[in-house]
Amino acid sequence: MGVKQVEGRMKEIQEQEKRIKIRMAKIKHKLVILSGKGGVGKSTITANLAIALARKGHKVGVLDIDIHGPSIPKILGIRGQGLTTGRLEDPGIFPAKGPFDTKVISMDFLLSSDETPVIWRGPMKVGAIRQFLADVAWGNLDFLLVDVPPGTGDEPLSLMQLLPGIDGVIIVTAPSEVSQIVVKRAVGFTKELHVPVLGIVENMSGFVCPKCGAEVDIFGSGGGQKIAGELGVPFLDRIPIDSKICEDSDRGTPFIIEHAETPAAKAFMRVVDKVEEFLKQQGARA
Ligand code: ADP
Repeated sequence: MGVKQVEGRMKEIQEQEKRIKIRMAKIKHKLVILSGKGGVGKSTITANLAIALARKGHKVGVLDIDIHGPSIPKILGIRGQGLTTGRLEDPGIFPAKGPFDTKVISMDFLLSSDETPVIWRGPMKVGAIRQFLADVAWGNLDFLLVDVPPGTGDEPLSLMQLLPGIDGVIIVTAPSEVSQIVVKRAVGFTKELHVPVLGIVENMSGFVCPKCGAEVDIFGSGGGQKIAGELGVPFLDRIPIDSKICEDSDRGTPFIIEHAETPAAKAFMRVVDKVEEFLKQQGARA
């Protein structure tokens, strides 16, 4: 790259950062949902929290940058919606519309088919994250929930550095020991970046037999609470295994609404209440 090109690129980045600041100033609360490893239910939790908050009357956006498993559109039943651009009152990329007027941006909208593996190199992924933050016309929102790829690699790091004013990070874990080791890393990573850890959610925590009501700890339980205590971060709740979560996600109907009376949906609602309480207290401290 020549000097001129480097200068041009630097200017572009500065412009982009200015746009990120302007867009993000219109969003009251930004929450990041993180997990140490994949498959523990991070996207399920993001989608259900988003719907629960939206149902309570908040304006909610979801940014799904989990490029290797962008499942938010599937869970919210809006796969196949394309992104559009325009220059109405707020020029930019327009998010797709999810249930309860949620606004959704997902890497999934950019991938051409289920069979094509994602072979984006690191800088491309970070470029896409930058562009989503700088150019998506979210408008005014109460909440932006960001579903990041698992682990503590380039993409979560870039997101946490680029997104100004993150209120807190919710860390999702499964009860297994392997999950707990990586949770320690995720908590350390968040603290290192000086972002508050809102709390840990233990997902897939025990199974209540629908026939006999007996509780079976398939993957164990209690590990999330233990590790939260050890690390001195809040424990939000434990969400049991419920096959309806899987079925609703496959169908694209929000579990938290469809099966509001289940112990899992009630646990989700308690997490939402704790998130709101955390933000209230943070607001009072500010
Ligand atoms: P991640 O985003 O961490 O990779 P997902 O949210 O995609 O994980 O969840 C992985 C799978 O586990 C999905 O099929 C989802 O429906 C299922 N799942 C998540 N949480 C639960 C739960 N509490 N009970 C039953 N199935 C669950």
